[in-house]
Amino acid sequence: MSISIGGRKLKPSTMMMGHGYDPMLSEGSLKPPIFLTSTFVFPNAAAGKRHFEGVTGKRPGGADGLVYSRFNGPNQEILEDRLGIWESAEDALAFSSGMSAIATLFLAMVKPGDTIVHSGPLYAATETLIARILGKFGVNWVDFPAGSTRAEIDAAMKKGADTGNVALIYLESPANPTNALVDVEAVAASRDAIFADRADKPPIAIDNTFLGPVWAQPLKQGADLVVYSLTKYAGGHSDLVAGGVLGSKAHINTIRMMRNTIGTICDPHTAWMLLRSLETLELRMTRAGENAAKVCKFLNDHPKVEKVGYLGFLEQQGDARQADIYRRHCTGAGSTFSLYLKGGEAEAFKFLDTLKIAKLAVSLGGTETLASAPAAMTHLSVPDERKQALGITDNLVRISIGVEDADDLIADFAAALDAI
Ligand SMILES: *Cc1c(COP(=O)(O)O)cnc(C)c1O
Repeated sequence: MSISIGGRKLKPSTMMMGHGYDPMLSEGSLKPPIFLTSTFVFPNAAAGKRHFEGVTGKRPGGADGLVYSRFNGPNQEILEDRLGIWESAEDALAFSSGMSAIATLFLAMVKPGDTIVHSGPLYAATETLIARILGKFGVNWVDFPAGSTRAEIDAAMKKGADTGNVALIYLESPANPTNALVDVEAVAASRDAIFADRADKPPIAIDNTFLGPVWAQPLKQGADLVVYSLTKYAGGHSDLVAGGVLGSKAHINTIRMMRNTIGTICDPHTAWMLLRSLETLELRMTRAGENAAKVCKFLNDHPKVEKVGYLGFLEQQGDARQADIYRRHCTGAGSTFSLYLKGGEAEAFKFLDTLKIAKLAVSLGGTETLASAPAAMTHLSVPDERKQALGITDNLVRISIGVEDADDLIADFAAALDAI
């Protein structure tokens, strides 16, 4: 499908229906078939040679055509073409999970003695991967709090440079479960200033799982690579696990070489499921965002609620610095937020156990509303001191709003609050 009609550039939501797929190459099938094959037939020996010249770098331009399913397949290629569209990225890669995407990115970018400068907190498994796993291989790390100012980010970059060769800057915004936004523009400006004398400035990668691609597009603020757990909003139906990385061709090719080597690509069936998911991505995220705004307003006005940590309230809660980042970086407040009830664990558990529509489960970004208690569940093993610092208190309930009827959800939350 062409990308523009009569000079009008088509929107991603339109492109999701057909981009990257020609039905006439598959017997006229409107939807792409699932290509279950481990290997692909070369038309002749010269084509086979040409392919491997591309793979091995003997010929510039990279691999041409398909050869083996650890490297790529038709369903994954269509998925990658469509993923990139959302953020006008030059290229994209699909992975078997968000964590395999992040792990492949790290393995491709860092070596022993290098330093990763990162925002904190990060998704727990990402923190484990950096500190406990890469740390074992001699990789250093320096972190700064997600809400840091330019001066604080500069200090972290300098500390990183003193520790080793800074090979990667890794961000996650908003941070989970604090919801603190990272000032990506300030990080990019800091990187350019601190490493001004380096020809190969460390790339900035950012986990955009919570707001992307509808409400935040960090490539526009100076990030070089965007990382996704496609398990969440992109997949959107809580029925698959996958990951993605988007960015410039040069960076993506570096990561592709690692993915080809270790085989962290997603399977064809998952890719096909994601193609279906992307057709409704904007519809689902828009509805979930509208629902969350209504539910948060209701919760915020309720006498049994202490505070609602929702990006849509930054302005009214008087957080000028975070509100400023929000205005510059985000086009919507998302549908995942923190609810602080009056009371402690007993009140949080009573609330969770009374909910009927909202299911008690970790994860987020699905069509259904989910709720959980981080202090007792996902963050149970986090030391008490760090829990306090991150605002992971016993009265915290994390909620991800789905696409149900908003008033039904409000009735569910009202009944659960009454039961406390
Ligand atoms: C879920 C999640 C991940 C990990 O993704 P998986 O698909 O579960 O491997 C990484 N980052 C964030 C922000 C997440 O929410």
